[in-house]
Amino acid sequence: MKKVTKAQLQPSFRQKDLISVNSFIGFCQKYDIGTTKDELEYFEKEGLLYPVVRVNRGLVEYKRVLADYDGKGSEEWRFIPKEHIARAKKQYKFKEIDKATTYGHGSILSGSDNWLDWYVKHSLAIFPARTKFKEWSSYRSNQTWATKPKKLGYDYETFYTPYQIYPLQFIQSRRSLTIKNAGLYKTPEEWVNRGKQIKEMYTQDISNDFIRQKIVDYYKLFNFINDLEELWEYRQLDLARFYEEAVKGYDGKQKDAVDDLRHRENVLDNELKPKAEKLLTKHNISIDYLENWRFTFLGFGTFGLRIKVMTLRKPYLKTIEEETLANTEQPYKIVYLINWLIKLVGGKETTIKELILGFSGKYCPYCQSPFEPIRTTQITCGSDACKRAHENELKRQKRKSGLYRS
Ligand SMILES: [Zn+2]
Repeated sequence: MKKVTKAQLQPSFRQKDLISVNSFIGFCQKYDIGTTKDELEYFEKEGLLYPVVRVNRGLVEYKRVLADYDGKGSEEWRFIPKEHIARAKKQYKFKEIDKATTYGHGSILSGSDNWLDWYVKHSLAIFPARTKFKEWSSYRSNQTWATKPKKLGYDYETFYTPYQIYPLQFIQSRRSLTIKNAGLYKTPEEWVNRGKQIKEMYTQDISNDFIRQKIVDYYKLFNFINDLEELWEYRQLDLARFYEEAVKGYDGKQKDAVDDLRHRENVLDNELKPKAEKLLTKHNISIDYLENWRFTFLGFGTFGLRIKVMTLRKPYLKTIEEETLANTEQPYKIVYLINWLIKLVGGKETTIKELILGFSGKYCPYCQSPFEPIRTTQITCGSDACKRAHENELKRQKRKSGLYRS
């Protein structure tokens, strides 16, 4: 079997979804997945989970300016970015401007559709999955201010995509026990030794390579989900525009407009059907494959998938609107989109609630993901890595039984 290459572990992403490492840790916390920078650094070093990108914050030139900023007669020195001096001059009465320039780190303007392009074009972005590992501390400057750019040094922000919470949780389930205290190891030597130990303790039953194969499966799916989200957003934008026009047409009568909107939804979904089919072909993804993955995400949502808990939560769940689930939690949103796509291409229609309530309690023996068997003979969750692991297991058993007979 081919080994996973480092390049395959570059997460697919949409630029506008990227969040800083601190935001990513906060996002994971919301779903009860605790992690730290130390742990994330360790997983990068092990070649399991690479951040999407590191971005150089760049330099900002500042001038020190003496002025009465509060307008109360007392003057003080403040730093103002050079490019804002002209504007500030109109607002405040400058008493004195320091000739010297002070340098500070810039801030990254992320969040728009193509924000990263600028940084890539100016060689200010590093993709960790395509670069040799370096300690995270080497990407941080220990100076906040300096009189020379060289003294200030470079400062990078690390970005993840929220979808990486799922592979992270998977890695943690195999690798976290001893890493939780990683912060205690202060020197690189201790790190290295500890890292070796952890590997030795765990690789016996599940190898880093199996983990990597599984992560490639996740990324394959997210590559598809990213495109699916684009399609969904296109749909939502169309409907929003349509509704706005419709309300105008009915002189603000919303009820008639809503009826038209329902009709438009159906027309639009018919139009989008070929696009949805194209997506499946492009990503070489089958409906079966998607149906299986849904349970992995459902396991992350508030209602979970544990049978015992479900019987208690059933009455609450029944009262919740499908859209509320989808709009509140990312894992439910993913399932919502998958359900929508399956419906578009003529597959079995279902809802998040039905899936949660109907879950039979099967877990994949190779990756522990929950799944609902589509065929009675189905053993694994259906992801490529687990199917391969199962095929190998069968071969091993065959070999063994052959030996016994001879
Ligand atoms: Zn599996």
